[in-house]
Amino acid sequence: MAASMAAAARRLRRAFRRSPLWGGLSRRPFSSEPPPASATAVRDAFLSFFRDRHGHQLVPSASVRPRGDPSLLFVNAGMNQFKPIFLGTVDPRSEMAGFRRVANSQKCVRAGGRHNDLEDVGRDLSHHTFFEMLGNWAFGGEYFKEEACRMAWELLTQVYGIPEDRLWVSYFGGDPKAGLDPDLESRDIWLSLGVCASHVLSFGPQENFWEMGNTGPCGPCTEIHYDLAGRGGAPQLVELWNLVFIQHNREADGSLQPLPQRHVDTGMGLERLVAVLQGTHSTYDTDLFSPLLDAIQQGCGVSPYLGRVGAADEGRTDMAYRVVADHIRTLSVCIADGVCPGMSGAPLVLRRILRRAVRFSTEVLRAPPGFLGSLVPVVVETLGDAYPELRKHSAQIVNLVSEDEAAFLASLQRGRHIIDQTLRRLGPSDLFPAEVAWSLSLSGNLGLPLDLVELMLEEKGVQLDSAGLARLAQEETQHRSRQAEPAQERGLQLNVHALGELQRRGVPPTDDSPKYSYSLRPSGGYEFGTCEAQVLQLYTEDGTAVASVGKGQRCGLLLDKTNFYAEQGGQASDRGYLVRVGQEDVLFPVPRAQVCGGFILHEAVAPEGLKVGDQVQLHVDEAWRLGCMEKHTATHLLNWALRQTLGPGTEQQGSHLNPERLRFDVATQAPLTPEQLRAVEGTVQEAVGQDEAVYMEEVALARTAHVPGLRFLDEVYPDPVRVVSVGVPVAEALDLASQAALQTSVELCCGTHLLRTGAVGDLVIVGERQLSRGTTRLLAVTGEQAQQAREVGQALAQEVGAAAERLSRGSQDVVEAQRLSKDMGRLTDAVDTAVMPQWQRRELQATLKVLQRRANTAIRKLETGQGTTPAFTAEAWALAVCSHMGGKAWGSQVVAQGTGTTADLEAALRTARAYALNQL
Ligand code: ATP
Ligand code: MG
Repeated sequence: MAASMAAAARRLRRAFRRSPLWGGLSRRPFSSEPPPASATAVRDAFLSFFRDRHGHQLVPSASVRPRGDPSLLFVNAGMNQFKPIFLGTVDPRSEMAGFRRVANSQKCVRAGGRHNDLEDVGRDLSHHTFFEMLGNWAFGGEYFKEEACRMAWELLTQVYGIPEDRLWVSYFGGDPKAGLDPDLESRDIWLSLGVCASHVLSFGPQENFWEMGNTGPCGPCTEIHYDLAGRGGAPQLVELWNLVFIQHNREADGSLQPLPQRHVDTGMGLERLVAVLQGTHSTYDTDLFSPLLDAIQQGCGVSPYLGRVGAADEGRTDMAYRVVADHIRTLSVCIADGVCPGMSGAPLVLRRILRRAVRFSTEVLRAPPGFLGSLVPVVVETLGDAYPELRKHSAQIVNLVSEDEAAFLASLQRGRHIIDQTLRRLGPSDLFPAEVAWSLSLSGNLGLPLDLVELMLEEKGVQLDSAGLARLAQEETQHRSRQAEPAQERGLQLNVHALGELQRRGVPPTDDSPKYSYSLRPSGGYEFGTCEAQVLQLYTEDGTAVASVGKGQRCGLLLDKTNFYAEQGGQASDRGYLVRVGQEDVLFPVPRAQVCGGFILHEAVAPEGLKVGDQVQLHVDEAWRLGCMEKHTATHLLNWALRQTLGPGTEQQGSHLNPERLRFDVATQAPLTPEQLRAVEGTVQEAVGQDEAVYMEEVALARTAHVPGLRFLDEVYPDPVRVVSVGVPVAEALDLASQAALQTSVELCCGTHLLRTGAVGDLVIVGERQLSRGTTRLLAVTGEQAQQAREVGQALAQEVGAAAERLSRGSQDVVEAQRLSKDMGRLTDAVDTAVMPQWQRRELQATLKVLQRRANTAIRKLETGQGTTPAFTAEAWALAVCSHMGGKAWGSQVVAQGTGTTADLEAALRTARAYALNQL
């Protein structure tokens, strides 16, 4: 392919992003006869094509909230949920491990992180913050380039009937620097499918080599583009479909290695495909968006949407239409998946999106208050069949959007007021103070984006103190980095090559069933068995497989079986030690075990040499394990109690536990009241008091599918799956007629649990905070820690009671009143930080606030009403000192303040002391 042609096409593609040409107002269906297919029909046709013609399994869209992947803010591609397959870490007992060829329609959000299209939204006619990605996958070499290209071509040209001459394709032209050859295989496949040679272009790594991140699986891709112009002249290309051939791994040192298994990963934007099939140049002129645009017109009473972009879009009305329509879809989908507008990470991005939508709707479209929320039902109507979670949460979405819109509008009003007030204090050439702008901004109090604050100032013709603002921003960053939770050390991992090698050798996954081998002695204590195992493989710290390790070496051990619980399902990993059989006096401490693709890697520092084939005996740290068991069973009881108290729709969002404490995130409309917190604790205590049996059993995953009340977290479950049921045998709990899961705690869970609830002892919620709007994080302790927390609460309640009594007795003496006030402050600090019941903390905080106010009033009264040393008044004293410093002073007989300047503070203090001594 001539380089000039490739460059021309590249320029076209880049230019296209904001090209007004795709904003053409005319509808140009390429086939005049049948009416254009609806978006629903287009989506369905894609899925049935891959299912019925090519034997693909259909899988549902994953939530837009990434599952256990801190590198992502939002799910931004269909492949995200299949990452464990590419990395080789998929649990072999999960349904996903069996996936060979699958297809789906994935909800994607590109509004932050590596893929961020937020700035393009509204300006062009092809990028959205939320869009649907249609994809098909072939895992482990099930099929590769030829079949993937053939299927795509067949679907586009035969099923959807897109004329072949409107399609262009690109392939990877190689990267000599990285030692990568051009992907001529893909080029030849396209030519063999009949694509005209002039429509086959090659590009470099930036366009046609796809990487998941800085490291990890990657490979060349081939893209299918559609020519919007279609007049045989210069093409106007828009990318429709990207076919990625994953065959390499980017190593930590930057080099590329072949992957043990190859995969096909494709993605096509539904909105763009529908635009093509509905004969329009804009995704907004499709039935996915037109109901929203209509609703915007009606709701705001503005002139109809005309699809103009750039300079032609006078007053940015059409851009505002697009921004609002796009953003309300994103907000609805995210909130339905449990990501609500908030203060950091993805929630913060969502908050910005909401505020951007409010600004465009109110400032450009002159929307009435409450307008954004009124668009939610339109989104639910267009997308609710494909993504039922939207219907399920529609009321909550409306509420959240409306509340946030109202809050933002109120902030805007207050912001304007504060700006006006500040301006009154400023001289004509003064800069607007950075502190005030900061307090108005997203990082400060009112949550107005800084660019908006600047705009508001610009309207007033004032300049902002930008240097001061930069300093504040830097201080904030430093503060945050100090506050950030220390990143958890990742520990030793099996990399994609090690996993591929184990799979190639047919090494079976680690048998970790002995982790469940424990029993309850008649005395009430637990007996944990040991486990004998063989060393199958050893790994050095950098993940290299070795046959032996030497003294003092940190290493990873793969055994044929284990009784260690590897970190998963929110339960901390076991710790303990192992010994070599026959050499029981040398302990190899094992601080943690991690699971990867069904293989459990034990981390150890070898005090002696160890080699493959050695027999070892494993011992878990029993106190640690028992602590985890107590906390895990308590977590289930807490989950159950929350549903009892807050209603059956209450959803768990996540949890984590170790022997010290348990953390539980729950979706809530508002913070829990002290009464609710107490009620939750009461329900748990009741279940603990009854010392109910905890039943655990593995069952086929299918048996759990329709059990009323049984919840599935957003997790990949193994099949068979373990069911944990409190008080009711598992078979009965799963019997649809029993309704048991509505009446007791029944959960799918791989954790290690107590065999009876009594050992939880007690549970106290000691902390509660809003993680983001709609999510509350609870911290709880159990057993003795819970008892101690109650005692601390009692003691503090008594102190507060005593202080209240002292206060109510009244005082004639300022010093005594001041001491009381100080005591209130000290008590408030203690109550704020103590490990005590949260409900009680909240009650005492409320009481202390009132008491503190009363104490302060009492001091003021005594000070003003009681002063009797007229010769030596505070005012006279202050005046004497301040006038000495060239300043002034004012006040009453008992309190005074003043100003003055001095380079010698000591001298000023000496003057003060001398004056006082002279008077007394
Ligand atoms: P573009 O260059 O147009 O931004 P991309 O290279 O970022 O696209 P991919 O990451 O390959 O796109 O995603 C696969 C497909 O998803 C694209 O071919 C396109 O059809 C669609 N797509 C990507 N980003 C968006 C978006 N922001 N809005 C709508 N569709 C999108
Ligand atoms: Mg893009």
